[in-house]
Amino acid sequence: MQLLPTPSSQDDSPAPPLWRLALAWWFLCSPVLWMWPSGRTLLDTVVSAAVLAPVFLWRRAGQAAAWLLVLIGAVYLGYFLAVRSAPDEYFWFTLFGSHAQEAVEYAASWRWRDALWLLAWLAPAAAVAWWLARRARPVRRKAWRRVLALLGLVWVAWGVVSAFKGDSVEATLRKINRVYPVAMFESYARQQVASHQIFAVPRVAAPAAPARADLIVLVIGESASAHRWSLLGYGGHDTNAALRPLQADVQALPVLANGNNTALALPVLLSGQGLEHLPPQGLPTYLDWARAAGFRVATFSNQSTSGTAETFFHAAYRQRSDWYVNLPDGEYDGALTPLLQQALAEARASSQPLLVTVHTYGSHPRTGKRYPPERAHWDDVYDNSIAYSSELLAQWIGLLQAEGQGRRAVLLYLSDHGLNLLDCGGNYTHGSARSAYEVPLLAWSNAAFRAAQPAWAAQLARHAQPAPDGLPRLDNRVFAATVADLLGYGSATGYPSLGAPQDAPEPLLGGQPYRARAQADACDVRAQGGPPH
Ligand SMILES: [Zn+2]
Repeated sequence: MQLLPTPSSQDDSPAPPLWRLALAWWFLCSPVLWMWPSGRTLLDTVVSAAVLAPVFLWRRAGQAAAWLLVLIGAVYLGYFLAVRSAPDEYFWFTLFGSHAQEAVEYAASWRWRDALWLLAWLAPAAAVAWWLARRARPVRRKAWRRVLALLGLVWVAWGVVSAFKGDSVEATLRKINRVYPVAMFESYARQQVASHQIFAVPRVAAPAAPARADLIVLVIGESASAHRWSLLGYGGHDTNAALRPLQADVQALPVLANGNNTALALPVLLSGQGLEHLPPQGLPTYLDWARAAGFRVATFSNQSTSGTAETFFHAAYRQRSDWYVNLPDGEYDGALTPLLQQALAEARASSQPLLVTVHTYGSHPRTGKRYPPERAHWDDVYDNSIAYSSELLAQWIGLLQAEGQGRRAVLLYLSDHGLNLLDCGGNYTHGSARSAYEVPLLAWSNAAFRAAQPAWAAQLARHAQPAPDGLPRLDNRVFAATVADLLGYGSATGYPSLGAPQDAPEPLLGGQPYRARAQADACDVRAQGGPPH
């Protein structure tokens, strides 16, 4: 049996020395070493280059693999610059869930230094791939072909053993994710599993206690930073002027977001946890708790769905609301007002309690497009967008005040994440500065609610006391925790509600104390992650 056919002998041009071929190949496998330089990642890249080398048994395979590795390397390094991680399931969620414009937006959030760093790998990598395409030959020496064939057989054996053990694709890949670029395919497999699980709607038990409110309006902001809220100390334009007349009934505080993009933050806002440990029976959200508590659930979103796949929150809104409207692309957030008005008017005529989610497009880049031209009060587009959101919040509070006469009414607002502002070299883009992670939370309640829940309201006022260093004392799990509490689920999420007497644990980002990160570098607070384990 001839396992390895010897390559045809008509191709007689001199092949480059093997060491050059090996060095070129290793370079294409090296992005992880660029991301986290260490002895361990150096070893990983060498091992990866070795175990991927069997492609050189065939000339065409080697060429194609080289170009593919250039592309994959660009993805690794590009994503690393945006979020300091190897491609993970959020990479795929963001890729499938956003439009081309958002991808351009991500790219624009890099700094020049980052772009040069990326180019420092990409340019030589492209040159190496080009060189390999021209000069690489199938490896001819019998001894080397045997080594490569053996390495190839290891892959086959690995596949057979995993199939025999009944491992999922994800589990199989997870075991070898230190081999570059397996982590990318593993995260894709994980995203595929998760993207099926997001459609699972969990069964939720009725709450143990009666609800604390009858009308709950939850406004989810987009890309609004606490650093530009005048109610939270911003000394520039009075971006929250519209809310000032309501100040007696309002508490505002900064909160730490768990991520700097919508795909990461929204699951936490809706459920109090991320998608990392998605239960197969479905992730319970406040929409589910509200329905189990007997509330009518209405959801109005100005977040377009023009991506190729439905994200977790769009699926949750659609499946778990009694009434769901997703506005067409390009509407200003003001288009949400008539929907809220109608939901509140219908609730007045009914004895059923109501929970409305209003998911705005807020200050999403490009920020200058998020408000009607006549609302351009200042020359700063971001401040204009925050002021427009404040106007709408004041308007919606007014509606709730009017329609909620005699009923206990609460409105909570929280932004998903902020943006990089001009002082960190960003141009109102997604980024990793403090301003991208510190988001405004606003809580309003009417007199009927405060009369019924005086202790709760007092705790809220206590939690809203600013910290001496101005840093957030709560993270964004507080949103779902507070909604759960209002619905009668107490501390079901495990994080203290705004109305609870317990203090929250110290906010962490990527497992590290946020305070330390913020004080070390206000323009880059991301925890320095590591390669896959
Ligand atoms: Zn967002």
